[in-house]
Amino acid sequence: MKNNQRIIIVGGGSAGWMSAAALSNAFGNTKQITLIESEAIGTVGVGEATIPAVKSFNKLLGIDEAEFLKTTQGTFKLGIQFENWGALGDVYMHPFGLVGKDSWMANFQHFWLKAHRLGMAKKYFDYSLNIRACNENKCMIDPNTGLDYAYHFDAGLYARYLRTYSEARGVKRIEGMVEHVQTCSEDGFIQSLTLKSGDIIEGDIFVDCSGFRALLIEQTLHTGFEDWSHWLPCDRALAVQTESVGEPVPYTRSTAHKIGWQWRIPLQHRVGNGLVYCSRYISDEDAKKLLVENLQGTMRTEPRLIKFRTGRAIKQWNKNCISIGLSSGFLEPLESTSLHLIQTGIVRLIRMFPGDTINQTEIDEYNRHSKYEYERIRDFIILHYHVTQRNDSAFWNYCRTMSIPETLERKINVYKNTTSVFKEQDELFHEGSWQQVMLGQGISPAGYHPVVDKLSDDELQRLMNSIENEHSQYLARFPSHQQFIDHYCKAGVPD
Ligand SMILES: Cc1cc2nc3c(=O)[nH]c(=O)nc-3n(C[C@H](O)[C@H](O)[C@H](O)COP(=O)(O)OP(=O)(O)OC[C@H]3O[C@@H](n4cnc5c(N)ncnc54)[C@H](O)[C@@H]3O)c2cc1C
Repeated sequence: MKNNQRIIIVGGGSAGWMSAAALSNAFGNTKQITLIESEAIGTVGVGEATIPAVKSFNKLLGIDEAEFLKTTQGTFKLGIQFENWGALGDVYMHPFGLVGKDSWMANFQHFWLKAHRLGMAKKYFDYSLNIRACNENKCMIDPNTGLDYAYHFDAGLYARYLRTYSEARGVKRIEGMVEHVQTCSEDGFIQSLTLKSGDIIEGDIFVDCSGFRALLIEQTLHTGFEDWSHWLPCDRALAVQTESVGEPVPYTRSTAHKIGWQWRIPLQHRVGNGLVYCSRYISDEDAKKLLVENLQGTMRTEPRLIKFRTGRAIKQWNKNCISIGLSSGFLEPLESTSLHLIQTGIVRLIRMFPGDTINQTEIDEYNRHSKYEYERIRDFIILHYHVTQRNDSAFWNYCRTMSIPETLERKINVYKNTTSVFKEQDELFHEGSWQQVMLGQGISPAGYHPVVDKLSDDELQRLMNSIENEHSQYLARFPSHQQFIDHYCKAGVPD
């Protein structure tokens, strides 16, 4: 047998099954793919909100969107609503898609700023079709309108769906607990895994999807972890499911509290909720009370405690082990980026998949890209905590006054001085996202770009009106979110 033919995936959460699905799709039966998971350990069971790039992952797998949403009790997500972040009582939305219309010289915020100062424009966020659709609880898929979307879905059903997909493409699943990992005494590469049953599973490439345990990348290879908890101090979450109290809204809600924040993710059959908090500032018992007090709808489950540490594995690929998912690091769930990082990790792995030998140059390149990607998303998330006027608790005082990465400091300063953000290479969040959060959290833009003055006041007014009218016309024919789900992807009653 040639080298690097046997791929062993440890873990059957979203990371494990997303990896199995993509690898089996890419390599067909030219590789032997085995996934080991332990029901006794279980999965983290959260991770239900996504960003638009998930659509390209599904496309790559050839997944039918409507069938996928039906099977996972999915709903549409057009953005995230942030409440009480910039200041108590503030509400803003980070929508997908564009706000207004950008020009290649300066983006829409510049045009809006002048128009607003002249009293000719509404609020900035009124020029986002996504936000207006959220406000009217409407949704439709029509690429011509510019409405961009992602999904909310049930994490358990998602893993099950991808399991069926992967097994149909030859992935072998083993139910069992890995108890020992054997490495080669010469080069330290992983050789085999011993299960509790005594079975020994040999492999060439090991994909560590074992969640926070990081069984291979850390417990076995001692790769090292870069801790970012001084910038992202939340370290616990309590997750709970509730009954729906009304039709699902097409957005995730993120409400800041004195010690962290609470999410609400509406699915077709229930709502996912959770409180993310910093254990330095509140006990688990008080956090539970806070969560329960702020729920809508009857609880279907007991709140479940999840402990975590923000940061990343220093090398996400080490020797013949690639860590994907929570084993490779964790940022906040605030911008729903973890499933996305799984997706990009797998795609990167497939593109750099070793031939006969594993080259260190390949490994280094993989790690360089992963580090860059993680750090840019990290900065974006820190932005939400740091740019705040909140001074009503020790938690917010810490976040507001903490030192931040130099890369983020620079971005904020550039925005403060120029009203622009310049996207670096292939970082995930585009200029618009950065600007929306900066504006939404209270940084006032300084001034507008000189090119805006090329438009007369009348032309500027026409631009504002045309965007607004175009959106109004689209919205007039959008059905409600619920009507669209009923028509397109209505799920059955769950088991
Ligand atoms: C509070 C919270 C909220 C989140 N919200 C979002 C969100 O909204 N959007 C988003 O994109 N992401 C979110 N995430 C992240 C998301 O949940 C994870 O990225 C995703 O679920 C992948 O998890 P995983 O598969 O890496 O780990 P897990 O789900 O923990 O799976 C680990 C697997 O490894 C197996 N395993 C472990 N040890 C062994 C062993 N010794 N032998 C055999 N099997 C073993 C387990 O049985 C399990 O199958 C959130 C995370 C947290 C903590």
